[in-house]
Amino acid sequence: MTYPNTQLFIGGEWQDAEGGRSLAVFNPATGVEIGRVAHASTRDLDRALVASQKGFEIWRDMVPAERSKIMRKAAALMRERADEIGRLITQEQGKPIAEGKGEAMAAADIIEWFAEEGFRIYGRIVPSRLGVHIRQMVLRDPVGPVAAFTPWNFPINQVVRKVAAALAAGCSMLVKAPEETPAAPAALIKAFQDAGLPSGVLGLVYGNPAEISSYLIPHAIIRKITFTGSTPVGKQLAALAGQHMKRVTMELGGHAPVIVCEDADIQLAVKAAGAAKFRNAGQVCISPTRFLVHESVARQFTAEFAKQAQALKVGDGLADGTQMGPLANPRRVSAMAEFTKDAVERGATLIAGGGRIGDAGNFWQPTILADVPLEARVFNDEPFGPMAAIRPFNRLEDAIAEANRLPYGLAGYAYTRSLKNADLLARRVEVGMLWVNQQATPSAELPFGGIKDSGYGSEGGSEAVEAYLNVRAVSVTNL
Ligand code: NAD
Repeated sequence: MTYPNTQLFIGGEWQDAEGGRSLAVFNPATGVEIGRVAHASTRDLDRALVASQKGFEIWRDMVPAERSKIMRKAAALMRERADEIGRLITQEQGKPIAEGKGEAMAAADIIEWFAEEGFRIYGRIVPSRLGVHIRQMVLRDPVGPVAAFTPWNFPINQVVRKVAAALAAGCSMLVKAPEETPAAPAALIKAFQDAGLPSGVLGLVYGNPAEISSYLIPHAIIRKITFTGSTPVGKQLAALAGQHMKRVTMELGGHAPVIVCEDADIQLAVKAAGAAKFRNAGQVCISPTRFLVHESVARQFTAEFAKQAQALKVGDGLADGTQMGPLANPRRVSAMAEFTKDAVERGATLIAGGGRIGDAGNFWQPTILADVPLEARVFNDEPFGPMAAIRPFNRLEDAIAEANRLPYGLAGYAYTRSLKNADLLARRVEVGMLWVNQQATPSAELPFGGIKDSGYGSEGGSEAVEAYLNVRAVSVTNL
């Protein structure tokens, strides 16, 4: 199976880095190097910045109907190429091929929704206090060239949420995509190129993440920063952006609580939360992690959850029937081993998994820990892997207090048949997204983002477009 080397995309052209530097890309299912990705130099970044400014000036002045046409064409190309792009994602990131293809198809839906939303960026006319001959206008304009930093867990989805909203708003965007999974984001950008996007509107670079972010964020051409990744890195980048008074959207880590009430449909909770837990091998910012289960149903829930986890077929994402692939990089395997050891040493019971599978590739067993003490690392730090931690509770208020104990506030889940419980949970659980009696359903039209240490700003709904707009007041007196 072929896998391409990935180049930089600057000023509408694919090119190697000046000086020819590149980094290796590995298949996480085999540990074997499968390709290279260009490593941008400062001179490459300078050219990409100038191109972004030029691209912005062209795109800003195009009407929404023209922009929408190009975006819709890009969406159609993503659908046409979804099989091929899905295979790229699996080769470089590890997830089962159906999930990879699904990511490419979902990208098309996201682009189309934002292509339409671009038509609905309205201003206002506000009556003047001083006379009817005065027109007071509220205008909403694109902020300018944006620098975007995206991670490896959803190589396309993390990019397309930013790109689609920025393009709808009339911004250009320079994307620093993940070096570990470079080919899929390049395929997304190529779809826009082939759809006729003017040169410079999108740029794509790879290299040293810290060097690139510390160069781009303060740069005068860049007017807005958007980052998806861990909370510690997000805080560093937000601080730097603050020093330079740049607008920021931060989509950071989470530690999603799952509250299973006494009156829950247990089969549904196991099926829905279990499937969500092991999707993309748990490397998902909204992955359910802290399972808070009413003590009267904890034993039943744990047993059924364990059965489901143990039945999962773990393997190479390209193989037929694989339900969970490898972890994306060796760092995550070491992290899983440390989380497991720490929890067991502190008194948790290992119910399922807990070990590496084989020596080649980054495979880890779907892991369930029960009766996990509050001080265990897995109950405090984001495991970002196929690991669920269960604790029983007695009063719903206590479960809510535990859900809110951590500084994170991204996603939450709850299972209950009681309207009263559902209402209390909706009001009191401090998360940006709460799903009750269902799996997560993030979609282009719903806000997507966190509160507290999980970040600020949204990557879905009309709010996502707002993030790329300036609001200005212009008053004209008709003499
Ligand atoms: P990491 O914190 O080193 O990197 C996370 C992402 O941020 C990577 O894509 C990396 O390239 C980028 N990054 C790191 N330092 C940067 C900098 N100074 N400037 C710009 N970008 C920078 O961690 P990791 O080992 O790659 O991933 C593990 C952790 O990252 C997880 O525990 C999870 O918390 C977080 N993560 C979150 C998401 C998400 O969807 N919110 C996605 C991937 C990783």
